[in-house]
Amino acid sequence: MNIILLGPPGCGKGTQAQRVQDRLGLIQLSTGEMLRAAVAAGTDVGQKAKSIMDEGKLVPDDIVVGIISDRIDEPDCAKGFILDGFPRTVAQAEALDVMLEAKGLKLDHVIELAVDEAALFDRIKTRAAEAGEGQTRADDTPETLSKRLEVYHEKTAPILPYYKDKGNHKAIDGMASIDEVSRAIEEILG
Ligand code: AMP
Repeated sequence: MNIILLGPPGCGKGTQAQRVQDRLGLIQLSTGEMLRAAVAAGTDVGQKAKSIMDEGKLVPDDIVVGIISDRIDEPDCAKGFILDGFPRTVAQAEALDVMLEAKGLKLDHVIELAVDEAALFDRIKTRAAEAGEGQTRADDTPETLSKRLEVYHEKTAPILPYYKDKGNHKAIDGMASIDEVSRAIEEILG
C-alpha cells in the first residue's frame, strides 16, 4: 500500500507517518528528513539544499523527485511507503505519477490533515519557542515558519485540487488529538 499524507508544516504529518510505519510496516519517506541527512553529511545535494531550507523555501523539484525515486527503488519500500512532505508542488505530483507508472506502482490513498491555520501557527510557534536554544532544525524559527506556511499556500495547496480531481483524496480533521487522527487514518487504510 502506497500513501501520501498532505498538510501544512506543523499539521502532524511526520508523527502520523511514523505511527503508520510502526503499525503497518510501511516505510516513512520524509523528503525533509532526507534533505537534513544530506546537509549533515555534506553531500552535493546537501550543499545545494542547505541555504534554501534555512530560508523556508522549496528545494528544486528535480532534486527531491530524484531522491524519492532512488529511495522507492530500495528493497524495503516493496511492501509500501508513506510519503511525508512530498509532493509539495503540482510539478512534483505530476512527476510522481509518471515515476510510479514507470515503476509499475500506484497510489492507494491521499490523506489530507485539514487544520485551522491560525491555531496551527500558534502551535508551531510554541514548538519553536520550546525548542529554543536546543533546536535541532535551523528552519524552526517563527520567521521561517511564516515563510514555510506562505510557501505552502502558494506552491503546495494547489496539489489538493489535483488529487481531488483524480478521486483518491480524503480529508480528515488534523486538529483532533494525535490518537483520534491516527484512528481516522486507520479507518481509511482499513
Ligand atoms: P519538512 O521537514 O517536510 O518541513 O521540510 C523541511 C524543508 O525541506 C522544507 O522547508 C523545504 O526547504 C525542504 N523540502 C522538504 N521536502 C521538500 C519537497 N518535497 N520539495 C521541496 N523542498 C522540500
